[in-house]
Amino acid sequence: MKRQTIHIAGAGLAGSLLAIMLVQKGHTVKVYEKRPDPRKAGMEGGRSINLALAYRGLYALHQAGLDDEVMSQVVMMRGRMVHDLDGNCNFLRYGRDDSEVIWSVHRGRLNLAMIEAAEKQGVEIHFNARIDTIDFEAKTLRIQYFDRTETEHYQRLVGADGAGSAVRQAMVSGGFVRERLESLGHHYRELEIAPDLSGDFKLDGNSLHIWPRGGFMCIALPNSEKTFTVTLFLPGSGEISFENIRSPAKGRALFSRFFPDVLDLIADFDHDWTHNPESQLSSLYLDTWHYRDSVVLLGDAAHAMVPFHGQGMNCAFEDCLALVEAIERESEWSGVVSAFEHERKANASAIQAMALENYVEMRDKVDDDRFLLQRALERRLAELHPGRFVPRYTMVSFRRDAYAVAFERGKIQRRILQTLTEGKTDIAEVDYGLASELIHRQLEPLNA
Ligand code: FAD
Repeated sequence: MKRQTIHIAGAGLAGSLLAIMLVQKGHTVKVYEKRPDPRKAGMEGGRSINLALAYRGLYALHQAGLDDEVMSQVVMMRGRMVHDLDGNCNFLRYGRDDSEVIWSVHRGRLNLAMIEAAEKQGVEIHFNARIDTIDFEAKTLRIQYFDRTETEHYQRLVGADGAGSAVRQAMVSGGFVRERLESLGHHYRELEIAPDLSGDFKLDGNSLHIWPRGGFMCIALPNSEKTFTVTLFLPGSGEISFENIRSPAKGRALFSRFFPDVLDLIADFDHDWTHNPESQLSSLYLDTWHYRDSVVLLGDAAHAMVPFHGQGMNCAFEDCLALVEAIERESEWSGVVSAFEHERKANASAIQAMALENYVEMRDKVDDDRFLLQRALERRLAELHPGRFVPRYTMVSFRRDAYAVAFERGKIQRRILQTLTEGKTDIAEVDYGLASELIHRQLEPLNA
């Protein structure tokens, strides 16, 4: 497609990556970001401090030439370290070996690196520039700065302005899009584990730690400065809930009962509890992601999801790649928008569903004997039938199989695992002849 001027709402994770990819293809890109320039004001908090980066996200960064810079600031996470109430740990590797891992990355530093790269490559970024009204017929944006309001004309507008997207809200208000926001009913709050006295990690630095406690849990992801960001996920209401546990004293009481080992590691619990907000979690579903051929949504603006598969950013990065590929491939913008939405919408729904399922797995199942048996068998079957029986987590996190494919194959594989482990307590008891028959009958080989 011939070179275009493209306006992007939001210089967050998706907006800044998309801007870089588009400018590299020769388009003119203007980005409007409501926050101040992070190089002058520091990164604002509000959302998770760190994120898990997986293969598909890294692949998209690689296409933009950003992977080396990003990889210089990440921490490898080889698997889940599951902590029980008695303080015992059980390590569950994510993949086969260190070629199948995920990476903890600092949100603020990642965003900063992308903003810098975008500007260096010629993207025009306006900070303190909040899009507040859109006239879809006149194709104008009203942008609110500290001291003034400006109107900007656009031809093509991408809404990459996150879960609370103003572009989406304007589309909803205009009756062009219908949205459904499903609250998880569980909220989160972040706390910090500082390094030990020698400046090292206080827990294993290459694991994602989980303290599953049935209806709720804590997790901790390592940061490159040897701290951990702990996230407490708790119901919003009910007996053990944020509604009932408001004060730091009640928070401490909750931790000393259910997470005593975590409490021992947090230097200033009351400070973190008081200063870090309690935030909500929701999944967002839209009937369409575009308006005519002039406006399209991507990332959280189109499909915000709960964070339990660590894929929201990875999915948003893959959206950017898909949109740029569609722009390269199609001759008309209407073709771009429909090809992009056709490719990405079913995949976004699939990862939204898998993310919800993973919450139950993380808080309820990772210490359950039947789950552990099925997981051990899953790994054995993956060794015996490479390319055909591929664990769902592997398809999502270490490969670029479409999320919808991972979701559908995952259902088939789960049924096979259930059949094979019925009444068994050890994978040595499994009928591997039957396993082979079921796998070959139900699963075609995956593309390499
Ligand atoms: P955002 O990153 O939210 O960026 C949107 C940008 O738009 C922001 O900069 C915002 O300031 C700007 N903006 C908003 N409104 C306006 C406006 N009116 N005008 C101009 N600018 C505006 N994902 C993973 O892949 N791995 C993880 O481990 C992971 N963990 C998570 C943990 C938690 C607790 C949460 C909440 C999310 C997690 N995610 C994770 C999801 C991830 O954070 C999001 O999917 C990702 O940030 C989406 O990127 P985005 O660019 O679409 O939105």
